[in-house]
Amino acid sequence: MTSNADLIARRNRTIGPYSPLFYAEPLQFVSAKGVWFTEANGDRYLDGYNNVPHVGHANDRVVRALSEQAALLNVHTRYLNERVVDYSERLLSTFRPGLDRVFFGNSGSEANELALRIARQLTGSTGVIVSDYSYHGTTITLAQMTTGLKTREPLGAHVRTLRIPDLDSDPRPEAEVLAEALASLDASIASLQEGGFGVSASLFDPLFSTEGMPRVPAGLVAGIVDRVRAAGGMVIADEVQSGFGRTGSHMWGHDYAGMEPDLVTMGKPMGNGHPMSAVVTSEDVLDRFGSRNEFFNTFAGNPVSAAVGEAVLLEMEAEALMPRAQELGGQALARFRELASQHGDFVRTAKGTGLFLGLDFAVDGVPAPHLAKQVVEAMKARRVLISRIGRDESVLKVRPPLAFGAAELPILLDALEASLAEVRV
Ligand code: PMP
Repeated sequence: MTSNADLIARRNRTIGPYSPLFYAEPLQFVSAKGVWFTEANGDRYLDGYNNVPHVGHANDRVVRALSEQAALLNVHTRYLNERVVDYSERLLSTFRPGLDRVFFGNSGSEANELALRIARQLTGSTGVIVSDYSYHGTTITLAQMTTGLKTREPLGAHVRTLRIPDLDSDPRPEAEVLAEALASLDASIASLQEGGFGVSASLFDPLFSTEGMPRVPAGLVAGIVDRVRAAGGMVIADEVQSGFGRTGSHMWGHDYAGMEPDLVTMGKPMGNGHPMSAVVTSEDVLDRFGSRNEFFNTFAGNPVSAAVGEAVLLEMEAEALMPRAQELGGQALARFRELASQHGDFVRTAKGTGLFLGLDFAVDGVPAPHLAKQVVEAMKARRVLISRIGRDESVLKVRPPLAFGAAELPILLDALEASLAEVRV
């Protein structure tokens, strides 16, 4: 196998050095199965980070469905195909009534782009409200509303941002925090209207994942939805991270968060690594957009993708992955809370739900990303992979494949306990 140094040099000369690699000494795997990665020398690493291999790396059911359908027929949606209709029915059956139509795409970016395009056409407005620390994709439109990653694309004139408050780090009374956030949203909506943009949509991740899973005031999400609708806008829930049972208690993050969206976008775990995404919406929205636009997407909704997507849903059901995420996530969160209180000098709080958990690092109320980074590296030394999120990158991000099992949980938790014990403030 090529050494890291040689491969990095070749990578820099082709892909370039700007696409970040994880870890001071990056990892190079040769295979992965379930929730375990393997290196060329046979060392195994526990995956506590990746949400794309939702039902497990190289899952047998998914691999079989993919290869059997690829060997049989792969074609676009201009020919009738039962498999894509079967899959659409199965996927839509996981949504609340009224969200019963689907457009397929190939990436989360494409789904968000389409949702914004639909909202723009149907409302006749262009203004968009996003959080002030978020990421929704790679297109020009989305780069113009990216606030949580470095981009040279200036924020669009039609974009307003909302700071998502976090009660874990804001000591003020909840009602005051809520009132301030909603007043700021009111001001943004007024400014979009005065600027002639109007409000076409709000675009939020219901879990506020990139933001670092803030504990938001009760009433914030409903307040956003009410105000956006009153201003004539549509509500888009970006479920690229929060969907497919990640929360443990709900299949969809918008149901967990009490957000009633007009459009739901999804990607990442949907195809377990096979590139696919979707926008789910109502019959009315689909009819109004579809009757005016001949929507065709060459690769989206092909029978291979449908077979893969169906296998993901079947595997989730067969292995009861969502209830398991709730059960294991609950156990993990309890231990995270214990660890947070044991290390109160540098851990502010434990966060999360289901199999999406975090520890928020702060010293004397000041975010401590360097300590979070130390722990990520210390976990790697124990061969457990996690990462960081949040506006200060000070929140540990533990978001394993949903196929994470009871046998793996103690490995992760023990590694975390040992890694935290090494931290010197
Ligand atoms: N939305 C969210 C919340 C995401 O986390 C991401 C990817 N990190 C995207 C959209 C974009 O998805 P993709 O990379 O598949 O285009």
